Amino acid sequence: MHSFPGRKLRVAIVGGGIGGLTCAAALKDCDNIELDLFEAAAKFIAIGAGIVTWPRTWSVFEALGLNEEMLERIKKMDPCEEVFPAWEFRLSDSKGGRKIHELHYRDATPTNLHRQQLLDLLLEHLPFHCQVHFGHRLVSCREYEDRRGCGVELHFRNGVTLDGYDIVIGADGLKSVVRQTVIAQSRSWTGLDASVKDLGFSSSMTNGEQCHLGRRHDILYTGQSAFRGLVPREKLAALYPNHRALRTSTIYCGKFKHIVVYPISNGEIVNVVAFFADSQSGSPVILETTGSSSPQNNQVPTDAVVNMYPGWEDEVVDLLKMLEKPTIWPILDLNPLETYATSRIALLGDASHSMSPHLGAGACTAIEDAYILGSLISRSKFNTLIDIKRVLAVYNTLRQPYGNEIMRWAREMGEFYEFDSQDIQVDEVVDSLVNEATEEHISKFRKGTEKYWSWPVRAAGTIGEDLRRGQEMLDEAKLGDLSCSRMTGINN
Ligand SMILES: Cc1cc2nc3c(=O)[nH]c(=O)nc-3n(C[C@H](O)[C@H](O)[C@H](O)COP(=O)(O)OP(=O)(O)OC[C@H]3O[C@@H](n4cnc5c(N)ncnc54)[C@H](O)[C@@H]3O)c2cc1C
Repeated sequence: MHSFPGRKLRVAIVGGGIGGLTCAAALKDCDNIELDLFEAAAKFIAIGAGIVTWPRTWSVFEALGLNEEMLERIKKMDPCEEVFPAWEFRLSDSKGGRKIHELHYRDATPTNLHRQQLLDLLLEHLPFHCQVHFGHRLVSCREYEDRRGCGVELHFRNGVTLDGYDIVIGADGLKSVVRQTVIAQSRSWTGLDASVKDLGFSSSMTNGEQCHLGRRHDILYTGQSAFRGLVPREKLAALYPNHRALRTSTIYCGKFKHIVVYPISNGEIVNVVAFFADSQSGSPVILETTGSSSPQNNQVPTDAVVNMYPGWEDEVVDLLKMLEKPTIWPILDLNPLETYATSRIALLGDASHSMSPHLGAGACTAIEDAYILGSLISRSKFNTLIDIKRVLAVYNTLRQPYGNEIMRWAREMGEFYEFDSQDIQVDEVVDSLVNEATEEHISKFRKGTEKYWSWPVRAAGTIGEDLRRGQEMLDEAKLGDLSCSRMTGINN
């Protein structure tokens, strides 16, 4: 039996995005942990601008002691507080745009944040005992048991190899390297190639086939791409003082296209994400050309965005014309993973369930994963290796079904916005515009949005309950119920 006599538990977090930093913050009270955080970039960067957060995200902020500071920062001039309803939906792909639905969240009002604000706050709460290693891009990791003992070895692109980690947390995002090890392990458990096994996604790919990113079979191209950009409030208000985007979070829907618009940074900036389905919109498939994660490389002229939405209602076209430095991104998600954890490795955030952004749930789910995993680790005593397995198995039991479900819902929601869902057959819509949609189509659309957008409400307030459940599982050591029994690796 392995034990940790006279030494600290060694934990590595790979990836310093919102998920990795939240996990580090959740480990702040652990003085029995040696904590290393490895980040590929030379500094922490926030890619993209706005994120929508929900009461369940704020319950994590509260537990981490971040909520008051965050409120302080966004309160100063927060016209978003006045924003009601949560979302307005419009049919917009003709000049006669019209409202078709409103979503109200009396018990779960969303709060729009600027990513940089969140990142800055998390950085301020990075625990003192967390050693940050920039410029460390992980290229491989493996669990070992040999002469040296047992643990996880990490190998970085800069030539550094480190071993002896008791727990490795993969928070390395969509293209996660850590995930490759977890997938390989899960394959060896099931005897199946879990990464390519169809676990339930219906495909909306070109020619009805799933389209993978390069040679990686874990990452899926959804068939959609998006332009992202910002419009300063001042600029928009000067010309259109009553523009809807200044105050109302709006989703402008069209056939095979939709545009999400909401104010961020205390209403100083309007965040715009304009989606289009590559194969259906007549536009070239951009996947091969824009796999870059660097906004500079993905920049496109504003005209290219405007031209993608010809004939849309004027308030959309006017807004798009004002976009500053728009960028273009393929929308990717993952083949759902069978497990988020092995004996010593756990995945969180986009590394485990990178999802399309149609429910505004990716960062929030990463924050929840990170908090739950960090809390389970900090509340547990690690005397033996089996203790590590238990904690990671409990984490997996709590988060894997949830993460995979939200990822599937997010994809399906995107299909609804563009009248491209199995439930609203687009062929039934007579013309090329969704403005021709019948009342029956609209009614199905409303039902769909109500269903998928129930996630922040349905699960509101469950973070504490999840932790209590996790604690009970640990206390009772109900390992038979946990996927731990399927874990390979070191037996003791
Ligand atoms: C257009 C768009 C809009 C969105 N809107 C919302 C929203 O409104 N609400 C919401 O909740 N979510 C939203 N999301 C999703 C959200 O951005 C992500 O889910 C979230 O950023 C995931 O955080 P993460 O920490 O898991 O991963 P990331 O933010 O990707 O962070 C991963 C980190 O790991 C580092 N890294 C990567 N590989 C390595 C390696 N090999 N070695 C070391 N370090 C590595 C990266 O540099 C990065 O710092 C949106 C996404 C998109 C694309």
